Amino acid sequence: MMRLPWFGFHSPRSVAEAAKILAGEGPNAMLIAGGTDLVPNMKRRHQAPKTLVSLRRVDELKKVSNGSGLRLGAGLSLTEIVDSQKVRGAYTGLYQAAAQVATVHLRNMGTLGGNLCLDTRCTYLNQNYEWRKAIDFCMKSEGDICWVATASKRCLAVSSTDTAPALISLGANVKLVSTQGEREVLLADLYKNDGIDYITRRADEVLTEISLPDSVGWKSTYWKLRRRGAFDFPVLGVAAAVKFAGDGTVEEARIALGAVSSRPLATKAGNSLIGKKLTDEAIAEAGAKAQNVAKPMDNTDLDIYWRKDVVSAFVGYALRELRGDDMRETRMRIARQVL
Ligand SMILES: Cc1cc2nc3c(=O)[nH]c(=O)nc-3n(C[C@H](O)[C@H](O)[C@H](O)COP(=O)(O)OP(=O)(O)OC[C@H]3O[C@@H](n4cnc5c(N)ncnc54)[C@H](O)[C@@H]3O)c2cc1C
Ligand code: SF4
Repeated sequence: MMRLPWFGFHSPRSVAEAAKILAGEGPNAMLIAGGTDLVPNMKRRHQAPKTLVSLRRVDELKKVSNGSGLRLGAGLSLTEIVDSQKVRGAYTGLYQAAAQVATVHLRNMGTLGGNLCLDTRCTYLNQNYEWRKAIDFCMKSEGDICWVATASKRCLAVSSTDTAPALISLGANVKLVSTQGEREVLLADLYKNDGIDYITRRADEVLTEISLPDSVGWKSTYWKLRRRGAFDFPVLGVAAAVKFAGDGTVEEARIALGAVSSRPLATKAGNSLIGKKLTDEAIAEAGAKAQNVAKPMDNTDLDIYWRKDVVSAFVGYALRELRGDDMRETRMRIARQVL
């Protein structure tokens, strides 16, 4: 049985209190929200905070507010995101991404903020302590080498969050709060392409809120490739959001990819669609551009060459759905659920 290591525990009632504890404890403290990622990582000993600061009792993180767009508290559970009619109707890509995270039980516990701050993953890392010790540790935890590419100077662990690509395609911003004040950053800028140092959030900052711009004129979608329909981390995520003019011409388009880099990838592939209708040729061009920048690594499920090959097909499914094609049969085959 894998046991948790000993740790200190705080349960603040407000963001200000949580930030004060983080500032006082230093980098050995970590926030815990649903714990669905952090707790297994602690059991496997590749994350070992001395102190946990729980966000479960911080009610201000569970607020939803409407304005010209939508503001979502980072403490909302993924189930609450899935059940929100506003999200489903106006930000469909986010709904589809959240609905495909893990299982019902994990979505009941797991939060949107935790999903955005999710640690990167790797076949050689997400193993128990004895397994990792047997092959010798790697540079993300206790070792010096990367087993995926032994000459690599950096860790190539994979960004495996489903909601980040969806929110990036929707143009989301996030708010980060510490004792030094607050700052708002474009979600795409929250991440770095480094499996260890994957997030620009400082250790003393709480991610409090995700804000989405007005959705008028926009349509969005999320397509996920995984081995099992019941649950699995993504081995490819394609999020697309397109703003259409009245005659169907594309005014703006964003395509973001998940699980093909150490960060969720905001591509420029959508730019090739601007000023055009979503014809088969325009869709194929955008698909090829997205495929070009995808760099799957051999540290997650399924063959890497095939995973790169299918990027254009998945971009095609996403864009054809946004143009109004009936993709329900393909969706059922890929996602094994109606979304
Ligand atoms: C079997 C299994 C399957 C899974 N499948 C998927 C999947 O398909 N797709 C997917 O995306 N995820 C998956 N997950 C991972 C996880 O369940 C989700 O990503 C979940 O949303 C994490 O949220 P949490 O609140 O539980 O995060 P926690 O585990 O509580 O925290 C995760 C990280 O985020 C940090 N954090 C949490 N909240 C904040 C905040 N407000 N501000 C700053 N930092 C914060 C924590 O310090 C920690 O580093 C799976 C997990 C398991 C165990
Ligand atoms: S990519 Fe390399 S360094 Fe990173 S977790 Fe995997 S084996 Fe370790």
